[in-house]
Amino acid sequence: MNAYRVAIIGAGISGLCAGIFLDRAGIGSFRIFEKADDVGGTWRDNRYPGVECDVPSHLYSYSFAPRADWSREFAPGGEIHRYLRDVADDYDLTKRISFNTAVRQAEFDGTRWRLTLSDGEECLADVVISAMGGLHTPHVPDLPNLAAFAGPAFHTARWPQDVDLAGKRVAMIGTGASAVQCAPEIAKIASHLHVVQRSPVWVGPKSNPPYSHEDIEALRNDPALLRAKRWALWKGWETTGMEMITPGSAINRLAETRARNHIAAQVADPEMQAALTPAYNFTCKRPTLSNDYYRMFNNPGVSLVEGAIRDVERNAIILDDGRRIAVDAIVFATGFKAFDIRNEIDVRGRDGRSLAEAWAGRITTYRTIMTAGMPNFFFLLGPNTAGLTSTFQMIEAECGYIVNALQYLESSGFAWMEPNQAEVDAFCDDIQKAYAKTTQNKGCVSWWSDGSGYAHANWPRSSIAYRLMMQDFAPRHFSYGR
Ligand code: NAP
Repeated sequence: MNAYRVAIIGAGISGLCAGIFLDRAGIGSFRIFEKADDVGGTWRDNRYPGVECDVPSHLYSYSFAPRADWSREFAPGGEIHRYLRDVADDYDLTKRISFNTAVRQAEFDGTRWRLTLSDGEECLADVVISAMGGLHTPHVPDLPNLAAFAGPAFHTARWPQDVDLAGKRVAMIGTGASAVQCAPEIAKIASHLHVVQRSPVWVGPKSNPPYSHEDIEALRNDPALLRAKRWALWKGWETTGMEMITPGSAINRLAETRARNHIAAQVADPEMQAALTPAYNFTCKRPTLSNDYYRMFNNPGVSLVEGAIRDVERNAIILDDGRRIAVDAIVFATGFKAFDIRNEIDVRGRDGRSLAEAWAGRITTYRTIMTAGMPNFFFLLGPNTAGLTSTFQMIEAECGYIVNALQYLESSGFAWMEPNQAEVDAFCDDIQKAYAKTTQNKGCVSWWSDGSGYAHANWPRSSIAYRLMMQDFAPRHFSYGR
């Protein structure tokens, strides 16, 4: 049976970063298990038309692997995917990845983790790093007759390669970030697009012209300029991000006013304007950016359908109030089961206690990175790491923390460590108090919270605060074993 110092689950942004950090720290015995046949995680999975990032690419990339030649400020998804492939090659990681290999179960045997893989093989690892992503498992509403629908019906993150929506009557369910990007593209080719809106989303303006050849050459020839560009973006996002989620702040109010003006400028019909205007704060849910979404509703080939989907028939969707709309295809832009790896893998920690049991009441962590009862099990982009900045900033801080923790284990001679329950409780209380002071999920429900007000997805502070927390490895917060 193969045995590794570290098993990393997932070869997306965070799994690749973990591999690079471990390699640099001289922790050479690691293996990355990837369930698909390629690296890239969310950027491999999300191939819907119009997919792009809404964080500038000079910030939405690894600080140690900057790229001068991003085509535009907000790069398309395919370009980000190619970037991640290039990073995997440049850092010689591909040979350390087991592709088409999902980890089904991880069980702690008292000293090490025993992993059961999708091919039936088992392996051992002293340490497990879950790099499975925060928005990974698609959420599709539970519709009793979905199998009876005659046409294509699929989630935005599972876009079939051969699907052709040209000339079709299409229902798009949901109005989150994926729908905002994808719906205008479908509207260009469908005979009719029905956008099913359970609740409207705030959409701010997004200007995204391509970088000129001169811009790219200037960045390519001047590494200091490239670094300065990232630094300036980070600083801008860092300062506005916190203001943006502070109730009543000037930036929060300004952003909402801009979005209201955006609706007024883009949508001709006042009734349609009203229907598209959310009744909650601009950053209650995660806001989105687009110059195409709102104006799409001027098109007679696009209908806004207010309501939720309840079921389907062979050639129609059925709404919660019983309305029936005939369609040929359904696109579920219905989001993800956020920040919860219980959906993906059966994790059994100390004394055989599963993560599902440990998190049955609520999802709890120590500083987002570990939880009680799961020795040497680390989460990358785990609960409470979604912020209003580049996720790369968070991941790099986490990988640094893991290296510190593993070096501490090496030097102290302990085999494993796990956070003390009191520290887990203190962290969770602190994070909920900070969260309560933000605009998030006050008057709306989204993947940022489970609807109860308990936030298991969001990081309610700045990314600097996150970085400082991650730099502070406090050995006294853990229990150890040999
Ligand atoms: P989402 O924001 O969770 O949106 C899901 C949508 O589906 C919501 O409008 C929701 O309505 C709706 N919905 C769910 N069940 C429904 C039902 N039974 N009937 C009708 N509507 C239903 O998911 P997402 O758009 O995939 O985005 C998730 C996150 O991924 C984003 O917030 C962002 O962090 C990331 N993302 C980023 C980008 C980007 O960088 N631009 C692009 C895509 C995704 P309610 O609002 O009423 O719940």
